Amino acid sequence: MTNYDELLDQGMEEAEDLGDGERFEVPVADTRKEGSKTIIPNFSDIASKFGRKEKHLSKYIQNELGTAGHIEGDELILNGEFRRGSIQAKIQQYAEEYVFCPECSRPDTKIVKEKGVEMLKCQACGARTPI
Ligand SMILES: [Zn+2]
Repeated sequence: MTNYDELLDQGMEEAEDLGDGERFEVPVADTRKEGSKTIIPNFSDIASKFGRKEKHLSKYIQNELGTAGHIEGDELILNGEFRRGSIQAKIQQYAEEYVFCPECSRPDTKIVKEKGVEMLKCQACGARTPI
C-alpha cells in the first residue's frame, strides 16, 4: 500500500519529462478585424517564441499574403481581410522554413550570415542549411 504514493510520484515525473522542452509548439496567431484590416494582437509573442526578429516574420507574412502591413507595438496590422487559418498556415510555413532544423527538426536554430548567404544554424546538432 505504501507504494501507491511512490507510483504517483513516478507518474508525475514521467509526465514532466514529456514536457521537457522537447516538443515545440508553433504559436497560434490571434486575429481581429478592424474595418478592412486584419490585426494579429499577439504578433510580437510569436516572433519571440521563434527567436526571430519581428521584421523578418512580418515581411514574410506580408509577402506570402501579398499585402502590406506594419507593426504597431506588439501587433501586426495587415491591409486586407484574412482568415485566421490562412495566417496560421503562413506562420507554420515560416517555422518550417526558418525555425526548425531540417536535420534534427529541433527549433533551436539561429539565422547566421556566411559569405553573404543566410544560413540556418542548428544549436542542437550543428547542421548548417542555406535558406
Ligand atoms: Zn539540428
